[in-house]
Amino acid sequence: MKAAQIVRPLDGRVVSTPEPEISANDVLIQVHAAGICGTDLHIFKGEYEAMYPLTPGHEFSGEVVAVGTNVTRFRVGDRVTADPNIPCNTCDYCQRNEPNQCRNLRAIGVTRNGAFAEYVAAPESVVFAIGDMSYSAAALIEPLACVVWGLKRVEVQPGDSALVLGAGPMGLLVAQSLKSAGAARVVVTDLIPWRLAMAEQLGAAATVVTDAGQDARLKSIAPDGFAIVVDATGIPAVLESTFRYVKPRGTIWVFGVTPVGTHVQFPAYEVFRRDLKIIGSFAVNRTFPQSIALIQSGTIQVEPLISHQLPLDDFVQGMVLAEKDPKRVKVHFCL
Ligand SMILES: [Zn+2]
Ligand SMILES: [Zn+2]
Repeated sequence: MKAAQIVRPLDGRVVSTPEPEISANDVLIQVHAAGICGTDLHIFKGEYEAMYPLTPGHEFSGEVVAVGTNVTRFRVGDRVTADPNIPCNTCDYCQRNEPNQCRNLRAIGVTRNGAFAEYVAAPESVVFAIGDMSYSAAALIEPLACVVWGLKRVEVQPGDSALVLGAGPMGLLVAQSLKSAGAARVVVTDLIPWRLAMAEQLGAAATVVTDAGQDARLKSIAPDGFAIVVDATGIPAVLESTFRYVKPRGTIWVFGVTPVGTHVQFPAYEVFRRDLKIIGSFAVNRTFPQSIALIQSGTIQVEPLISHQLPLDDFVQGMVLAEKDPKRVKVHFCL
């Protein structure tokens, strides 16, 4: 089969490899859509805990083409996606129903070969039916499931004001999700004006271009700050800026992925004095069903986020485009 492979950091190519072998508990999926995520870019650049050589790709959908002998819930022809995170189900975190903190967590496209390939194998336990939603929409179930997990930790209160820093694919999902969870007014910032136009189309109450005037404009929108401030950029300086925008009793949601080892400075006295909460959220934590429901019902719109659809042969160009192209939001490979 055809598969993209990162041989070592910064060395990617499309190769011909054997199809994945499936065990008795596995489902073999013919990939139809697979999205490039910031994590794939970190893996490409060697900034993430991955194994090389690796076929990346963990946001995907496709069709079942073979099932192992123990598989009971799926059959050939089913339209599916998979939660890329494979917990061990036996460690103490798994036993406490905290599988995203599993001590032996493995992940499709990170520690085992992923979906930037014609076929990918996944254990039945992480496979989900997608009904009749499009394959491209279904390849956004995973990123939205990450947002849903964070939302559950943030505990939005009815009527909260919220600020989302960054209108990339994740920021646009976060902004919509905060609103659906009860936030009254969601404001979005980004460097790129047309991304902000998209944020407004998707329900943002106001948007602010990131430039020298950003702080003054945010101050005029919310003089006292926002109840929820989300970093959806992963840029350390942007994360530090969240403390300027959060109101007393507010919550800062650390959602963007900073490079491993990043430290930022924060005003410790203000965290104390203003009763601030700082919340992290990692990956998916049994939130695929909710994400599927939000997309299927039209509560969250995902298809407008897909800015580019490329063939897998354009793997390296896709990675470059997903990192730098000013017109990018979500880049998908279609197979
Ligand atoms: Zn991802
Ligand atoms: Zn575990």
